Amino acid sequence: MPTTSDLDSLLPGRVVTDPDIRAGYAVDAFPQARAIAPGEFTVVRARDRQDVVTTLRYAARHGIPVVPQGGRSSTTGSACAAPGAVVLSTERMSSMQIDPVERVAVVGPGVVNRDLKAAAAEHGLAYPPDPASSAMCTIGGNIATNAGGLCCVKYGVTADYVRGLEVVLPGGEVMRTGRRTAKGVAGYDLTGLFVGSEGTLGVVTEAVLRLVPAGDPPLTVLAVFPTLEATMAGVAALRDERHTPSLVELLDGASVDAVQAYGDYGFPLGAGGVLLVQSDRPGHAAQDVKEYAVSLTAAGATEVAVAEDRTEADLLLEGRRVLNPALRAKGDRFIEDVCVPLSRLGDLVLAVHEIAGLRGLEATCGGHAGDGNLHPCFFYDRTDPASVAAAEGAFDDLVRAAWALGGTLTGEHGIGQQKRPWLAEELGEPEVGRQRAIKAVFDPLGIMNPGRGIA
Ligand SMILES: Cc1cc2nc3c(=O)[nH]c(=O)nc-3n(C[C@H](O)[C@H](O)[C@H](O)COP(=O)(O)OP(=O)(O)OC[C@H]3O[C@@H](n4cnc5c(N)ncnc54)[C@H](O)[C@@H]3O)c2cc1C
Repeated sequence: MPTTSDLDSLLPGRVVTDPDIRAGYAVDAFPQARAIAPGEFTVVRARDRQDVVTTLRYAARHGIPVVPQGGRSSTTGSACAAPGAVVLSTERMSSMQIDPVERVAVVGPGVVNRDLKAAAAEHGLAYPPDPASSAMCTIGGNIATNAGGLCCVKYGVTADYVRGLEVVLPGGEVMRTGRRTAKGVAGYDLTGLFVGSEGTLGVVTEAVLRLVPAGDPPLTVLAVFPTLEATMAGVAALRDERHTPSLVELLDGASVDAVQAYGDYGFPLGAGGVLLVQSDRPGHAAQDVKEYAVSLTAAGATEVAVAEDRTEADLLLEGRRVLNPALRAKGDRFIEDVCVPLSRLGDLVLAVHEIAGLRGLEATCGGHAGDGNLHPCFFYDRTDPASVAAAEGAFDDLVRAAWALGGTLTGEHGIGQQKRPWLAEELGEPEVGRQRAIKAVFDPLGIMNPGRGIA
């Protein structure tokens, strides 16, 4: 294990010597994360590429595991400190340059997602990927998890915006992938390989990101449905729209109840489901939301509220924004991230509640309905072993239900530590073999984020 003083002499001022501060780097937002003692790991806060090179050279020389870390908002334990590891935080690498003519941003990995959005907006541009954690997650973490979010239904995920990367490989070699230009097909797409690789191949030290012209400030429709079936008819009706909504979010009845228990956000109790739908189409947002409202009413919505302006639009979305804190306040939970074909979304919600009923647990089901990607939660009592076992069983049941519906166990959060037991079953052994072979090309010593994802 590296001693703090070894690394401190190589990287003066970068190594966190205060154990209380170091303890803050022990875990990410994985609810089942186990914090190891601050004496069991080292933290380097890199300020530039050379700091990353020096750390990775040192780690390779001594065979020490490295855990890259950004904003620590991962829900899967992918950024938790590991015993004997160097936690390499890139949160301070926050340089940012915007080229409005090329419509690209060249950014350090520590730039916070929301800050990049704000900087792009000053040029009339947008960086669309918008995880609900936008205020706390970094571009490095977004790239490593291929983060999605609320507007993927129209704009796609992080991978759709990454043109090129600078990555420091284990051992300290600096590698560039991809391009800055709008097009480019020279060689294999190694940029795509690094996007979503969960810090298991190398450390991202710079990214060239595509920007797009900003849409209009979004307007919102909130539709309340009496049954789950009618809610799903609402989701299906939106697929017939010629102008794709920029957001289609679902809260099932149990999620609505949890939000209302947290504060009065104007949702009726006992609803079958609520859909929040937005348009940001330049010059046409008001027209779109009115049309969405007509379609949602025809599909069976019993209450429909349409925002006339940005302030009202924000108010209508407020209940969705507080979903995460509302669910956290409800108690300990296992968070899923399953994604199924849109036509099977209703079956997925039914499966969540059927599994919860059979296992004697409470469940909620909400998320990115427009993509078929939901975050069902199973609530349990961590002090009761039977309840823990029931929740673990429910998690497994739902992964299998998602597979049976033609889906995947993770739409956007990644594998991390949380979903490793299911990865080989989803991919199949031959695919696991190929992926491990790729991993070995970049990380022959196996020191990059071991025990997470495929690593
Ligand atoms: C309230 C809440 C809401 C969320 N909503 C969404 C959502 O809507 N959509 C979504 O996709 N996710 C969501 N997430 C999950 C999380 O925010 C994302 O996975 C995010 O991309 C993680 O970014 P981070 O900077 O916090 O990375 P971290 O959590 O620090 O790390 C995540 C992964 O990235 C790796 N990593 C970090 N920096 C680097 C680097 N420079 N080079 C290489 N690897 C690196 C880590 O090793 C780890 O594997 C949510 C989380 C919370 C807590």
